Amino acid sequence: MATLFTQIVQREIPADIVYEDDLTLAFRDIAPKAPTHILVIPKKEIVSLAELTPEDEAIVGRCVMVAHKVAQAEGLNGGYRLVCNSGDDGGQEVPHLHFHVLGGRKLTWPPG
Ligand code: IMP
Repeated sequence: MATLFTQIVQREIPADIVYEDDLTLAFRDIAPKAPTHILVIPKKEIVSLAELTPEDEAIVGRCVMVAHKVAQAEGLNGGYRLVCNSGDDGGQEVPHLHFHVLGGRKLTWPPG
């Protein structure tokens, strides 16, 4: 069974896609937590950071580069936050690795 995010990659579920390349997809979060809230995902089904293998290094690097590219395209010149929730304690809900790009307002720290 494909993950929810793979179904977005395959256009089986609609999404507001803002960027795509051979390894990644970026789309707007359905329940934004900030004025800009975009998810960057690898097209490869990787459950979380905990499941990464050495061969995934280039994919993760691409995700981070894409996150910055997307932040620039969104005009987040004052800064932004890149978040990756991993596992239950990390608050991960969708079991397909994803990076949250959050910005457009002053973000607080620490998270809850
Ligand atoms: P997590 O808690 O780090 O796993 O984040 C999952 C994120 O996916 C949440 O911010 C949700 O709002 C978002 N989300 C869930 N379903 C969809 C969808 O169908 N489209 C876009 N974002 C989604």
